[in-house]
Amino acid sequence: MGYHEAWQRSIDDREGFWREQAARIHWQTPFEQVLDYSSPPFARWFVGGRTNLCFNAVDRHLPARADAPALIYVSTETGQERTWTFGELHREVVTMAAILQAQGVGHGDRVLLYMPMIPEAVFAMLACARIGAIHSVVFGGFASHSLASRIEDATPKVIVSADAGSRAGKVVPYKGLLDEGIRLSAHKPEKVLMVDRGLAPFDAVAGRDVDVAALRDAHRNATVDCQWLESNEVSYVLYTSGTTGKPKGVQRDVGGYAVALAASMENIFRGEPGRTYFCTSDIGWVVGHSYIVYGPLIHGMATILYEGTPVRPDAGILWQLVERYRVSVMFSAPTAIRVLKKQDPSWLTRYDTSSLETLFLAGEPLDEPTATWIGDGLGVPVIDNYWQTESGWPILTLANGIAPMVTKPGSPGVPMYGYDVQIVDEVTGEPLGANQKGVLAIAPPLPPGCMQTVWRDDRRFIDTYFSAIPQRMLYSTFDWGIRDDDGYYFILGRTDDVINVAGHRLGTREIEEALLSHAGIAECAVVGVADSLKGQVAVGFAVPRDAAVVTGSDAALALEGELMRTVERQLGAVARPARVHLVTTLPKTRSGKVLRRSIQAACEGRDTGDLTTIEDPTALDQIRAALR
Ligand code: AMP
Repeated sequence: MGYHEAWQRSIDDREGFWREQAARIHWQTPFEQVLDYSSPPFARWFVGGRTNLCFNAVDRHLPARADAPALIYVSTETGQERTWTFGELHREVVTMAAILQAQGVGHGDRVLLYMPMIPEAVFAMLACARIGAIHSVVFGGFASHSLASRIEDATPKVIVSADAGSRAGKVVPYKGLLDEGIRLSAHKPEKVLMVDRGLAPFDAVAGRDVDVAALRDAHRNATVDCQWLESNEVSYVLYTSGTTGKPKGVQRDVGGYAVALAASMENIFRGEPGRTYFCTSDIGWVVGHSYIVYGPLIHGMATILYEGTPVRPDAGILWQLVERYRVSVMFSAPTAIRVLKKQDPSWLTRYDTSSLETLFLAGEPLDEPTATWIGDGLGVPVIDNYWQTESGWPILTLANGIAPMVTKPGSPGVPMYGYDVQIVDEVTGEPLGANQKGVLAIAPPLPPGCMQTVWRDDRRFIDTYFSAIPQRMLYSTFDWGIRDDDGYYFILGRTDDVINVAGHRLGTREIEEALLSHAGIAECAVVGVADSLKGQVAVGFAVPRDAAVVTGSDAALALEGELMRTVERQLGAVARPARVHLVTTLPKTRSGKVLRRSIQAACEGRDTGDLTTIEDPTALDQIRAALR
């Protein structure tokens, strides 16, 4: 059967298709119904079935693989390197589960994780899954304001954190940001569990902060059974940026997610149990949730948790790890490869990478030169895959595990089974034919693994994702796309104000709000500007309140610096604009709407489009002058 037939069946006979896929995981209680779609667009998968993500990722492998590697931890930041077998991982997860229970965490409680790439983060995620607590991991690169909004929305009973992360040899203290985040939030956690790595001294808050290492000894021999959860209960909430300043809590289920990941491990990644999967993402992003933690472990593979950059101690580190751990499947982001491309290409051939079968890249557009460079250099196929925090697993890629297909340069591939992908007209909602640019949309029901709703906000789920396309109830990805005559898709950028910096999704609105919190600013606009290394960078334009602060003056330079630091302090280094320019006015329509697209076009040296509605045409000249 060719891939197209398999995909067609997944749409025509959804229940039959997913019933078969569901056999890949352990069900403590079988499901009664494959899909309940009685309340569109809410899809409930494997209704009545009871299972547990931690059981599928850890316990299930104990009979056959207790002594096989499960978690391989490598930190080139601290020099730590250690492997946990499935048996050892089980022990650590149960211990962490007992620690959480001792803090009063139970079924349905939220646990927020603000952690660097350390094994305790994985133990904590799996421990939450084990006891039916809902984890919400906040990327370690975010700062106090980002944390505060997430703490307030997720209302965690407990937060698990650490003294510090480390990036390119520089210690990044977490505790001060966390304390500030909690101070800013209206909701306060009852306890904060601290993993002390000994990297950055911190003050413990009496009665609230608890040392994990001390508790670990007390719970070393604990027994904590898996809580059998109904398939549609909540496994986690992961916040992601959108058009508004308030991040959305992407809520995911238990059973559908487990099935989708298990299926993808074979159909898409072609991983083999017992071998090693190496994903260079971060647990703070969806790729880290799905393909550092849950996917590989559910499939019985060892997974590498890597704290470090691709170029330290040298540009061969990733390939050295491939050699050392006989990695068979690797998953990274185009930016990481573009960084390596600036280094001596001989790094690609200094190690024995013969174990590597495929390199998957995702998170941002993959340019052809980068794909060719790395594919030729390593001598392995490179497979682009397109998806989102919302989908949890690839929407577009190649399912070579079902039927091999050729890659097309510049295309992430074809719709994955279960996704009824359409390109539609943004105004009429009508489906478009081949080679016509439109919005990439998905006809519901969304397949297993995709978001269930926005955490505690069903209305926002519908209003955000299912109301963007007029006339039809379709899920909007907010990406422009095009399909060619062979059915391959191409992604042409976002339809909204979301930008993608080195594969990190950021909302320009959030950055603008941070800039506006500075008293010296009257208004501002942030746009994403094409960058050869990071794909895009954020560039801000701000109008100072004090007209005496003239562009180019010392006062202006000082203010620009302060603005950058304000963003870094509030949102984190990840959101810091590449540059903030001061201008006296922003280009706006006569009705007062900032013309972000025109600013972006001016920044990229493109045609600024139709400007008949612009209030003050000289405003764009200022933008161009600022860039010069
Ligand atoms: P995130 O939710 O952070 O994973 O970001 C999802 C967004 O990243 C998508 O909506 C796209 O704009 C972009 N994206 C992810 N993967 C790809 C890819 N393979 N090619 C092009 N854009 C991508």
